[in-house]
Amino acid sequence: HRLVHDINGALLTTLAACGDVVRNIMASPFPDERQAVLGPIVQSLVDRFRPQTTSYWEIWVDGDKAVTAEPVTSEPVEPVYGETYLPRKFKIGVAWPGDNSIDLFTQDVGLMPTLRSGTSGDLTGFVVYAGGGLGMSHAREDDTYPRLATELGWVTPDQVLDVVEAVVTTQRDHGNRADRHRARLKYLIDEQGVDWIKEQVEARSGAALQPSPALPEFGADDYHGWLPTGDTLSYGLPIPSGRVADRDGVALRSALRELAESTEVTGFQVTPRQDLLISGVTPKNRAIVESVLRRHGVPMAEDVTALTRLSIACPALPTCGQALGEAERVLPQFVELLDKTLVDAGVGGQAIRLNMTGCPNGCSRPYTAEIGIVGRTKTNYDVYVGGAVGGERMAERLRADVPYADIPSLLAPVFAGFAVDGHGGESFGDYCARVGTEQLITVLPIPTVKRRRRAESSEPAATEAGDE
Ligand code: SF4
Repeated sequence: HRLVHDINGALLTTLAACGDVVRNIMASPFPDERQAVLGPIVQSLVDRFRPQTTSYWEIWVDGDKAVTAEPVTSEPVEPVYGETYLPRKFKIGVAWPGDNSIDLFTQDVGLMPTLRSGTSGDLTGFVVYAGGGLGMSHAREDDTYPRLATELGWVTPDQVLDVVEAVVTTQRDHGNRADRHRARLKYLIDEQGVDWIKEQVEARSGAALQPSPALPEFGADDYHGWLPTGDTLSYGLPIPSGRVADRDGVALRSALRELAESTEVTGFQVTPRQDLLISGVTPKNRAIVESVLRRHGVPMAEDVTALTRLSIACPALPTCGQALGEAERVLPQFVELLDKTLVDAGVGGQAIRLNMTGCPNGCSRPYTAEIGIVGRTKTNYDVYVGGAVGGERMAERLRADVPYADIPSLLAPVFAGFAVDGHGGESFGDYCARVGTEQLITVLPIPTVKRRRRAESSEPAATEAGDE
């Protein structure tokens, strides 16, 4: 209770971080001129879909509205959610031409802005995607699955809010309320068809969904190292699983606090890969920021391997009640093992996006990663490969139920194939997709006999430090 109260006191909010409503909205975070486009659309979406109930403040903030960012003073009415709210959570993300770091195809609604000159110029509209979602259930692999969002069409800036609301209310009125495992929008679209959802959206919004213009190639910015942002610089600091803490000789929390209280830094942005952009640094203050990080023992982007920089994990054990296995706590040692495997295969230092979760709900987006590791039991994981850097392709399952300690040797022959047959500059995910899972499976080692028994002795060992 105190934590949520204090978060509000710091002018942040956890409102709609959970529940069957539109959740917090993600947008490309880079603090350059793109924010002039993204800021207003995100704020408009937040204003339209923020739950109007006063219960949040009554329960969590003791009615002390002086510390809330947006006190609600009138009787609560829910113009979008009505009395029933939504069948399930609903996620919205706004990407940027050429930067799909927010993984818009994994969102219930994804918006891609279109600009007059491709990646720059005035905003002309948005391509709207709907029906993405990553959760699935091991117990129901026949009828639960991750799905990429489907393109609905292009709309103008003055139509986009009504179009998004039309998608939300279609899901509110027709989404599955009987079976929570099948309650997300993706199942409604698969059951009713893409034409049906388009008709619903056009009828409810009054906007015509137009053919989408050609878009710049999808990519995903890493935001690591020093990056120019107008007259100033931003430093993209990789943070293992986004955990801000002082531990293991790294005083990250103290370093960030010192920077936050200094005049050398004007802001922080959280990136979709759990890292931080330290922003507003003038070129002459660059050395000061670096010295603060170094003095606190914080590894900088250039100090860690590419795989370390690009790996993320969900909290899993012990924080998440849904977790079947470890993720965040074993990620550092797991990445170390895979880095060695890459070196042995002749592709040491390869930049690969690795997303690990403790259960099939997929919170760290393993199903669109180049390598996805999904917790199945306390000791075993499903291994996926083949997602695209730009997020527009699903990874495929290479093998299910692999003991944690066997994953590097499972991937070793795939890395070796990539070392020999990977086309120049081809990403590991693209290589796996080009060769195909059916072919990759033929080079895998034979599954471990009695793997459950063996797995007991190779159970991933979480570090003490992760227990906080
Ligand atoms: Fe929890 Fe991770 Fe599963 Fe999400 S994916 S529900 S954070 S264990």
